[in-house]
Amino acid sequence: MNTAVHKFGGSSLSSAARYHAVANIIISHCQAGDSVVVSAAGKTTNTLVKLWLCYQQNDSQGTLDVIKLLKNHQVELISELLIDELQETALQKLNDELELIATLAQQQELVEAQLLAHGEVWSARLLAQYLTQLEHKANAFDARDLLLLSGGQLQHEKNQKSCQVLNSEQFNVVTGFIAKNESGETVTLGRNGSDYSATLIARYCNAQSVTIWTDTQGVYSTDPRKVKQAIKYAKVCREQANLLARLGNPVLHAKTLTPLKDTNIKLVVRSSFDSHSACTEIVKKGNAKQKHFLTTLDNHDLVKIEQLIEGEVGELSQLIQHTLHHFELDSETYLLIPAAYTHIVINHLSGRANLVESNLFGLGIVCPNDIAHQLTQQAAKILQKYNINIRFAFSQKDMPGNEYGLVLCEQAFDTDLLTILHEELISDSQELAVVVAGLGNVGATFITQLEKQLVRLNYLLPVKLVGLVRSENMLFCSDGIKIHNWLEQWQTSAIAYDNKSLIAALEQLDYEHKVVIDITASEDFSLLYPDFAAQDCHLISANKYAGTAHTTWYNALKEKLYERNLKWRYNTSVGAGLPINFALNDLQYSGDKIERLLGVFSGTLSWLCCEYDGSVPFSELLLKAKDMGYTEPDPREDLSGRDVQRKLLILARELGLTLDLDDISLTPMMPADLAQGDWLSFLEKRDKLDAFMSDKLIQAKKEDLVLRYVAELNLQQDKLVAKVALSAVKKDEPLAGLKAGDNIFVINSLWYQDNALVIQGPGAGQEVTAAGIHSDLYWLTHSLIK
Ligand code: ASP
Ligand code: MG
Repeated sequence: MNTAVHKFGGSSLSSAARYHAVANIIISHCQAGDSVVVSAAGKTTNTLVKLWLCYQQNDSQGTLDVIKLLKNHQVELISELLIDELQETALQKLNDELELIATLAQQQELVEAQLLAHGEVWSARLLAQYLTQLEHKANAFDARDLLLLSGGQLQHEKNQKSCQVLNSEQFNVVTGFIAKNESGETVTLGRNGSDYSATLIARYCNAQSVTIWTDTQGVYSTDPRKVKQAIKYAKVCREQANLLARLGNPVLHAKTLTPLKDTNIKLVVRSSFDSHSACTEIVKKGNAKQKHFLTTLDNHDLVKIEQLIEGEVGELSQLIQHTLHHFELDSETYLLIPAAYTHIVINHLSGRANLVESNLFGLGIVCPNDIAHQLTQQAAKILQKYNINIRFAFSQKDMPGNEYGLVLCEQAFDTDLLTILHEELISDSQELAVVVAGLGNVGATFITQLEKQLVRLNYLLPVKLVGLVRSENMLFCSDGIKIHNWLEQWQTSAIAYDNKSLIAALEQLDYEHKVVIDITASEDFSLLYPDFAAQDCHLISANKYAGTAHTTWYNALKEKLYERNLKWRYNTSVGAGLPINFALNDLQYSGDKIERLLGVFSGTLSWLCCEYDGSVPFSELLLKAKDMGYTEPDPREDLSGRDVQRKLLILARELGLTLDLDDISLTPMMPADLAQGDWLSFLEKRDKLDAFMSDKLIQAKKEDLVLRYVAELNLQQDKLVAKVALSAVKKDEPLAGLKAGDNIFVINSLWYQDNALVIQGPGAGQEVTAAGIHSDLYWLTHSLIK
């Protein structure tokens, strides 16, 4: 059977609400037979360490205080999560254990590892009971019954057998961090060792995958809490991940990867706080391109070692429960040690270790082959410029095909400096993957124009067309689709898809940035935007549905995009290529206040109103427009005015107004009852339409006015006016001077009060629309390098 291992760290289990979230993840992502490895809740291990220190210092009051702290936290979790008998027994058991700890402390019989193990035992027990209470079969396992170390070595064969107790009919909740030795004593796998427990168990159970659920969404180019521009990578190869761990990346720990060596077990780093977001997959060499990373080390000592024995660094790491990095420089071996542990290491190596430098701060640069040297030099230069004294700066080969640089300095660098380093060293390495959905006239023109446009874009950032999507088929080519014969590739290689496989294809793209360009007219497709955002895709839409969706949905999407630092551009959803969104934004940036926005937003209705002079019945003109392809397949869709209403809503939202479609009054350009029935029944009643329009025209002519189908947003009055209707306008107004088929936008603002700002021109057509989408793509690319 295919099983999976899921690991939840301390921060994922810090409160009752977090347990609840974790239980939901387990219920939705795990199957019976899967193992769930847990760390101690929140900072419990730190508290237990504190308890141990008090005990060692014979601080009996301190010991009791810390026990109380532990008790409060656990009692709170238990009382909030469990009910009735389960709660009662859990509290009783906890009480017994804490009393025993107090007694052992009093009798001077506490054992460190045994004490620390409580954190994980409590988590596993509580989570299993909580799942049981939710009516899911679950059982807690103590990893001391599964993982045996003899002489410090894991006993793989025995452990594999022991792991057979993990039951295929339930969720197996296993304690991380702990194991036992040949004498049956508790041992720990090192601080943050639960990830290691998870990969070990995965190996012993022959699991398919291990998911490390944590508090970040994956592995980033640098710490995303410090550098906002940090790039989340979809894939990182194991070798780079291993190196990163040794150089201080807090997400993955060096030992985590060892059990996966020579296996096909998939390792995923994912956020338990946002289980729908895209994650990072740690893959075998060759299955991901080499990425760029910056890591930092604080307060480390540099120690020179004579005659380092094989496996000794591992032993030392175990001793101080901390990952260590060692390197050779000028035929000498050095070890970088967190300053707090240096004395332990020097003692242990009795006479073979010499302290060379103390309290150093470091910058690790992990990067593709052949550029480590150059990047290290560059980093050193930048640091010097900011008055950081450098003690060592060198680049190295870590193992075949894996390079890194290390700069060791006297001072710590703050987040601003890290941001600068990231911008200078990492930003250039990014690529943007483009996925185009909708391959009709505009889509095809967009792709044709892309060939030339790439020259301009690549100057900013390498951009590649990697995916094409139509209503039923898709084509993804992660290395890039050749633009000159895209159609041929589409015809020979596109495959059928459903939403799930489309999202999976986006997830698979190993690019720093991705964008989905929606040139479809499909509402269903627009409903996938939140899923695209969850896959870290920027959005460009010519499609109007998402931009005019209900406020709740729309705001949730905007928020999701904002949280992920993703952009959404939709320049062509109103006025095709005309720069109306730009103008509105730019005016607002300049401190202007828009007071009124007026215009003709539909090319079809613009043409009909301009051409209609009463010489032929209106319906005849309508059929002519239909024949020329100026209208929707059913022209009543145009006459309904709904499209204009959507466009006005998009612009209103651009002005910061919270409106929905219903807030914009809409009067169609036809009698209401003509909207009913099929096209043929409409044709039978066309006289009604002709009479309706002719009345309007006669009335207008009488007053020397002309007919226009007008959208209006007026913010001047106390009450906002937002309406779309057929109007009669004065002949000297900008709206009257419109060329048939053109769009026009008339803006009155503080700066443009009496003399309006007018934007006019073709508001449809494949060339201008495709070019407008290129403008969006250009500005998106531009914003990514900032
Ligand atoms: N609870 C242990 C620690 O805090 C193990 C872990 O979190 O992985 O180090
Ligand atoms: Mg932890």
